[in-house]
Amino acid sequence: MAKRVYLIVVVFLGIGFSLPADLHLSTQEESSQIEVAVTPVRGGVHIVTGIGGNVAAFVGEDGVFLVDAGLSQLTERLLASIQKLCGRESANPALRYVVNTHWHSDHTGGNETFAAAGALVVAHENVLRLLSQDQVMAHLGDRLVPAVPTRARPRLTFNDRMNLSWNQDLIHVVHVPNAHSNGDVIVHFRDADLIHMGDILNGNYPFIDVDFEGHIGGIIRAVEEVLAHSIESTLFIPGHGPMANREDLLRYKDMLTTVRDRVQAMIDRGMTRQEVIEAKPTADLDAVWSGGESADPFVESVYDGMVRSRRTGARQDSRSR
Ligand SMILES: [Zn+2]
Ligand SMILES: [Zn+2]
Repeated sequence: MAKRVYLIVVVFLGIGFSLPADLHLSTQEESSQIEVAVTPVRGGVHIVTGIGGNVAAFVGEDGVFLVDAGLSQLTERLLASIQKLCGRESANPALRYVVNTHWHSDHTGGNETFAAAGALVVAHENVLRLLSQDQVMAHLGDRLVPAVPTRARPRLTFNDRMNLSWNQDLIHVVHVPNAHSNGDVIVHFRDADLIHMGDILNGNYPFIDVDFEGHIGGIIRAVEEVLAHSIESTLFIPGHGPMANREDLLRYKDMLTTVRDRVQAMIDRGMTRQEVIEAKPTADLDAVWSGGESADPFVESVYDGMVRSRRTGARQDSRSR
C-alpha cells in the first residue's frame, strides 16, 4: 500500500503486520517496550495504537464505544489511555460498548477487563462460537487457541448487521462473510465518515485465517462493499498499520484481484500447492506489499482458501440438488 500516513501515528510495533500481533508478542518484557498512542481522527473518534490491533475509541456524551479491545496483557494500558482521553475531552468516561471485529486475541484480549468495567461486548455470532471452545489453527503449525472464560465472551451477537445511534452519530456494524475469518465485521461511523476495517486491511498482504473460512475472494468482496458505501473523503482504520484513504483501498483491491486471478489460473492449470508457491505469483508485488517478509505464507493462504471454498461450494451444490 502507498505508505502515505495521514495521521502521525507515533508507534513502533516491531512486528510484521502480515501475522496476528499476538503471534509475535507474548512476554511482558516485549509489551513494556511498546508505546501506546491515542490519535484523534474525526468527530470524537480516536485511534489507539500499540496495544495489539488498532482500537477505535469513540467518546462523547453517551459514553465510550470501542472497536476492538487489544491484547489481554496490554488492557490496563489501553484502559488508562481511554480514561485520560475522556478527561482531556470532557467526555462521559462510562465504558458502554466494545465491538470485536473478529475472534483473534489481538482484538478480543481486553474483553474481560472491559466487560468487568461495565461494557457490553458485541460481535458476530461466529466470534462467540469460536471463543467458546478450544480452537486449533492448523496453518500456523497447529497452534492451540484455548477457549476464553464466559466473562470474556461477547454477550450480544448478531448475524448480519446492527445499527446504533451513539454520541450523535450513527454507527453501522456490518458482517462481511468469509474474508479475514468467518466472523468479520466492519464498523462505519457515518457522520464521522470513518470505517474500521478490522484485519481485512493492514497495509500489507492480508493475513487470511483459512482454518476458519478466510478467503481472498471474501476480502475482495468486503473491500468492494466498503468502497460502494464510502465517499471520496472517507478514511479507513486498518486492523494494524497506518490509516488509509479511498485511493489506498482501490490500490489494495487491485493487488488482491491480481493475486486472486493469477493463483486461480494456476489452480485451473492443475498446478499443485507447492508448484504455485514456487512459481512466486506475487514476485512483482512483494516490494510494495510484503512488509519485508516472505510472501509464501500469503500465497499458501490464498491457495488454501480457494481450494477449500471450492470444496465447500461443491458440497453446498450437491446438498441443494
Ligand atoms: Zn490483528
Ligand atoms: Zn486477525
